[in-house]
Amino acid sequence: MELPDVGELTPPNRTLMGPGPSDVHPRVLKAMSTPLVGHLDPSFIEIMDEVQDLLRYTFRTDNQWTIPVSGTGSAAMEAAFGNLVEPGDTVLVPTNGYFGGRMAEMAERAGGETVTVDAPWGEPLRPDDVAAAFDEQQPDVFGFVHAETSTGALQPDVPELTAIAHEHDAYVVADTVTSLGGVELRVDDWDIDVAYSGGQKCLSTPPGASPLTLNDRAMDKILSREESTRSWYLDLSLLEGYWGDDRSYHHTAPITNVYAIREGLRLIAEEGIENRWERHLEMAGAIKAGVEAMGLELNPEDEYWLPSLNAVRVPDGVTDGEVIEYLLSEYDIEIAGGLGDLSGEIFRIGCMGHSCRPGNVAYLMTAFADALETLGADVDAEAGITAMRNEL
Ligand SMILES: *Cc1c(COP(=O)(O)O)cnc(C)c1O
Repeated sequence: MELPDVGELTPPNRTLMGPGPSDVHPRVLKAMSTPLVGHLDPSFIEIMDEVQDLLRYTFRTDNQWTIPVSGTGSAAMEAAFGNLVEPGDTVLVPTNGYFGGRMAEMAERAGGETVTVDAPWGEPLRPDDVAAAFDEQQPDVFGFVHAETSTGALQPDVPELTAIAHEHDAYVVADTVTSLGGVELRVDDWDIDVAYSGGQKCLSTPPGASPLTLNDRAMDKILSREESTRSWYLDLSLLEGYWGDDRSYHHTAPITNVYAIREGLRLIAEEGIENRWERHLEMAGAIKAGVEAMGLELNPEDEYWLPSLNAVRVPDGVTDGEVIEYLLSEYDIEIAGGLGDLSGEIFRIGCMGHSCRPGNVAYLMTAFADALETLGADVDAEAGITAMRNEL
């Protein structure tokens, strides 16, 4: 077999303003280049404790059961559904975006039967519809997506939704992949039983270690399962041995990713979680003001606007693909197009973590205005840039 010439790794230097991954903070990159220790080294045990404390701070929870799952956001998602859902459980999932569909697939693989609560793509779930679904279907587990990255819609009324579920003795699983560390999220105050997230959205870390938190009520259900969960790797009753008091070997933690998330979370604690939510509102607010002044529209209503993922409707005169391609080739900027029901209809512009800062916002808006104008959309580029600058 002939080996092709494999040169030194020199990826392009992109500015990541899509639905994830987002820019990794330089301090995180630095933490990742520090030497490895063993996953049972006393110094690493201390690091694990620190990561768990920092995760509790960021999730706004006192849950003892708070860990970084080895793997990307989908691994934490599968850990949540795979452990909580037992064969025969009824699981209520939303149909208002891509990730509700993924919840259904995971719940079914765990032996659950799924039923749905519907809302159009780009809109949140209505509490009345959730209540009706509970009355009709009596689900055991209810999953919802707090920040739907596929549509740019934020789910408001979370405490109302969790109250409905708890009146019916059900468990609530929240997908907070694109909200944790970016938009207001209060796991304990909002009475969320299980929440999972990912590193590469608002935490300024690479994919690889993914936050998961569960309250005692959810853990009790998991620890009293009759049948073991189908995944050995993500079995929380086994992972308890490593992340709980014993600190005994289950699988080798991805040491470098744990270093990364520790530093990413430390940055959040330094900034202050509420300041961080505020920064996302301000920076994404400048993007929103800019695109609106250009003559474009955001897809979701203002009430459901998701600062960490801005869904902008594609104007007449251009296709999403040509604009995305122009930004990548001319400016090294990554944004994305729509998925599913919104395919071809929206641009998805992320503003997450370290990507969410004035330099990036100004660069993106200038480049986006150029792309739209050059490719023939009828937009007022100058008005957009002025409006963006006024907000920064
Ligand atoms: C990105 C994302 C996921 C999946 O995370 P991966 O890191 O891609 O595995 C799940 N839910 C939402 C809302 C996301 O944005």
